[in-house]
Amino acid sequence: MPTNHQLRLFNSLGRRTEDFTPAAAITGLYSCGPTVYAFPHLGNMRPYVFADTLRRAFRWKGIGVRHVVNITDVGHAVADTNTGEDKLEVAAARERRSVMDIAAFYTDAYFADIAALNILSADEYPRASGYVEPMIEFAAQLEKDGFTYRLPSGLYFDTAKDPGYGELAQMSTEGQLEAARLEYVAGRRRKTDFALWRAEEPGQRRVLRWDSPWGWGAPGWHLECSVMSMALLGEHFDLHTGGVDHRELHHVNEIAQSQAYLGDGQPWVRYWLHNEFLQLGAEKMAKSAGGAPRLADLSEAGYHPMAYRLFLLGGHYRSQLDFTTAAVDAAQATLRRLIARVQPLRPLPAVETLAQAAAAVAGDPAAQRLLDDLDAAIAADLSTPKILATLQDALREPALTPDGQRAVVAAADALLGLGLATLEPADLEHRRAIGDLNTEERRAIEDLVADRTLARQQRDWTRADQIRAQLDELGVQVTDTSQGPVWQLR
Ligand code: AMP
Ligand code: ZN
Repeated sequence: MPTNHQLRLFNSLGRRTEDFTPAAAITGLYSCGPTVYAFPHLGNMRPYVFADTLRRAFRWKGIGVRHVVNITDVGHAVADTNTGEDKLEVAAARERRSVMDIAAFYTDAYFADIAALNILSADEYPRASGYVEPMIEFAAQLEKDGFTYRLPSGLYFDTAKDPGYGELAQMSTEGQLEAARLEYVAGRRRKTDFALWRAEEPGQRRVLRWDSPWGWGAPGWHLECSVMSMALLGEHFDLHTGGVDHRELHHVNEIAQSQAYLGDGQPWVRYWLHNEFLQLGAEKMAKSAGGAPRLADLSEAGYHPMAYRLFLLGGHYRSQLDFTTAAVDAAQATLRRLIARVQPLRPLPAVETLAQAAAAVAGDPAAQRLLDDLDAAIAADLSTPKILATLQDALREPALTPDGQRAVVAAADALLGLGLATLEPADLEHRRAIGDLNTEERRAIEDLVADRTLARQQRDWTRADQIRAQLDELGVQVTDTSQGPVWQLR
C-alpha cells in the first residue's frame, strides 16, 4: 500500500512549512479573487491555478473543502492603499460604459479563462457590491471598539492600535511598511493606516455609492475580503490564498481589522499561502499597465490553454516564473508528447483520490511505488514539478502492468488537471489565427454569427443550433457573453 504522506504547506505566517491538519469536517478556503476592471492577464491566472492545485491536493487526501473566491466589483482603489478613485469607475470612464457593464464583461472574461484552464469551480463567488451592508456593520463595530478614526476622506483603521500589525509581511518597523505606501492622505496618523470607508469629499460623487455613518461613499478593498470570507466561511477558517504581493499589504490589513473585530486573541486564519509572480521579462506583469498577454492571446498564437497550465505547473508555485515564448513552446511540445503516449492507454480509470488510486494499483508493486512518489510530491507543499516527473516515469516504466500504468497516469492527472483523459492531438495543432483570414472569410463568419444572434432573439433555437453547427465546421467557436457573442478560431 502507498503511504498516506502528511500534507505539508508553506505558511507565510511564520514563513515555514507546516503540517496541515483540518480543524473540522470541512476545511474553509478563501482565495482573493479578481478585480473585474480589465482582462485578466496570464500572471493574474497563476493564483487560481495554484489554488486549484491546493483543491486537488485536498480532494486527493479526502479532505472536504468549501472554497470561496470573491469578485471585486467595487472598492479596489487605483492606489492599493485604498484611497482615491475606484479601479472600476476609471475603467468605465475609459471605455465609456457603465460600471455594471464593465463588471459583468470582465467577470465573464475571468470565468472564460477559469474554464479554459480546467480550474475546479469554487463553491461561492461573492460579489463585493452584494456585501456592502455587512461591511458597514463590520466597520461600525470597529469604530465602536475604538480601532478607527474619522477624516473627511473616510473612516480609517488605526494601525497603531494593533501591536502585531505587519507580522505577516515580516516588516516590523514602520519605516519599512511606509516604504511601500507613498501617497499622501491629509490627516492620516500613520502611513500604514488604511480606509475602511472611502467617503465622498465635497464636490465628489462616486458612481458606486452607498450611505453610511461616515457619509456617502464606498467600502475599502481590504474590508471586503474580511467581510465576505467571514460571511461565507465563518469567523475563523483554515486557509487564505493570493498572490505574493498581497502578503505585504492587502492580507496584512485584512488580518489587522479581522483580529481587531473578533477580539478573541486567536489568529483569524491559520494558514496563509502565496504564489510567486509570473515575470514578463524583468518586469512585473501589471494588469493596470495594460498590454500584458492574456490567455486569449496565447490561443490566438496557436497555444492550447493547457500548455500554459503545464508551463505553470512545471515550476513550484513559490518560485518566480519567467514567461517566454520559448517556455510556452516547450510546454506545448511536452503536452503533445504526453498526449501521444497517453492516447493508446485510454480509457483511463476514474481516479480522484489516493484511496481510489491505491485500490486501482493493488497487486502492481511498480505502480504502487509510483503512486507513493505522487503522494509524497503533492504532500511536500504541492510539488507539481515532481508530479510531472513521476508522470513521465510512469509512461516509461517497463515493469508496470497496463492497468497499473493507466491508474498512475489518471492519478497524476487528478492532481495536475491537464485533461489527459480526453485531450486530442488535434486540439494541439497550430490553430489558424484570426489575422490569417481574408476579408471574405471574415465577413462570412461575422454574417453567420449575426444570423445566429437574430435567430436566438427570435427564439428560433433550431436555426440557432444549425448556424452554430455551421460555424463549428468552419472551426469557429462562439461564446455568448453579457456583451453579446464573441467568436474565435479553434
Ligand atoms: P487582481 O485581479 O488585480 O486583484 O489580481 C488577481 C490576483 O493576481 C491577485 O491574487 C494578485 O496577487 C495576482 N497577481 C497579479 N499579478 C500577478 C503576476 N504577475 N503573477 C502572479 N500573480 C499575480
Ligand atoms: Zn482579498
